[in-house]
Amino acid sequence: MRYCLSCGNKLLEEEMFCRKCGFRTDIYLMEPPPKIRITKRLAVILFIAGLTLHLILEYILPFILHDVPEEYLMAIIILDDLLALPLIAVSLVFYLAYISKVRLKPWLIDVATAIGFLLNIVIFFLLKQIGSGPLFDILYYLRYPFSYALILVGIFSRKLIDKEIDSLNIEVEHTRYENLLAAITILVPLLFFASYGSTSLRIYIGMPTIGLATWLIWDIFSTKLVKIYVFKNLSGRKEEWMEVVRLEDKVKERGLRPHFIDMLLDSFTLTLLTYSIIVLGLELVPVVEVDTASVEGLANTVQYSWILLILLSILVGPSQWLFDALDLRIYNKKVMIVEKASPFRYLDEFIDVFALLGFLLTIRNVSYKVTGGKNMFGFSKIYFASQTALFLFILYWLSMLTPSLLATLLYYKFSITRHVSEVLRELKPRSIEEIIGEKAI
Ligand SMILES: [Zn+2]
Repeated sequence: MRYCLSCGNKLLEEEMFCRKCGFRTDIYLMEPPPKIRITKRLAVILFIAGLTLHLILEYILPFILHDVPEEYLMAIIILDDLLALPLIAVSLVFYLAYISKVRLKPWLIDVATAIGFLLNIVIFFLLKQIGSGPLFDILYYLRYPFSYALILVGIFSRKLIDKEIDSLNIEVEHTRYENLLAAITILVPLLFFASYGSTSLRIYIGMPTIGLATWLIWDIFSTKLVKIYVFKNLSGRKEEWMEVVRLEDKVKERGLRPHFIDMLLDSFTLTLLTYSIIVLGLELVPVVEVDTASVEGLANTVQYSWILLILLSILVGPSQWLFDALDLRIYNKKVMIVEKASPFRYLDEFIDVFALLGFLLTIRNVSYKVTGGKNMFGFSKIYFASQTALFLFILYWLSMLTPSLLATLLYYKFSITRHVSEVLRELKPRSIEEIIGEKAI
């Protein structure tokens, strides 16, 4: 079975070019394309929709409605900002993602995403310098829809395209410049706080130091923790009834050398972990007093989160990445069952849910604060509270990005390959064929 990489059409044996879109057929997908995918059509449709909406809102409606109340005109401007311009920005990033896919350079999206981070912060700085005027307006429009589209759509597109790259009939260079892009992104929060005029050493020295300390803990204890996970006992020793098994002999290259977006998402998982523990955990078990509903309270929260990052991130971070790279199975001789060696798999998936619950809790706390505990369910209050909670979360994430991404980068660069060979040397996993062969005898 062959499917066109560009349009997803099923290809016939003798075709040199796709009969639907004209794309080459020497490079093709070996499986039916995923339902949600990046295509030229998607980008064009979104672009036309965004542009039409923008023209209607900006030129046609104000022309027709000249004697409507001012608040209607305000609503039109807000709709343009919130919908039309973001649609255009999103369509352009989708188009870029499409080009990088058919040119077989998926790492172009990584570069675009990192530029999104940098653009956001540089324009933020320029806006503060300029103050007002036509240049201000242009930069303002560039920053909001475009930098956020580059970051969010960039991440989303890269994950979608990875699935298609995996089912291609050829090997594609899946990453390039990942260390440089990660290094730039690590610096972005520092630039952000600098542009706010912060001179706190806690930020410029503290954040990188926390990252370094986190990585050191990972470097020393990750393989030990993997053994505890694998053998399900604290001494990390193999018991009689078990056998370590590997399905494939080769370690996945993407597991050892992930691209920039995967490193970014890995570091984000760590942030979600600390966020859910702080917000949700402290709500249930208030050991220390923190206030997650204000900017002042956040500084305090972030300090506890840094400690949690150093102490607890090893549970879901590096040990999980090692498991993913090794793809180990445990063969239980007693019940003759092969199971995946990764007890924290479920915790990993629950973190998103916990973080979402924590976020809702922050919204509640903010709206409680705003209204002094009364009349909590007005629509505009909830809207305002969500906006504030989102702002607080982004500020929280910026404070965690430098240490967590730095630790992630250092681990992939200096530790994981050594850890993988160390675990393989000590566990001596056998191939699944050997086990099946033995069982047959
Ligand atoms: Zn085609």
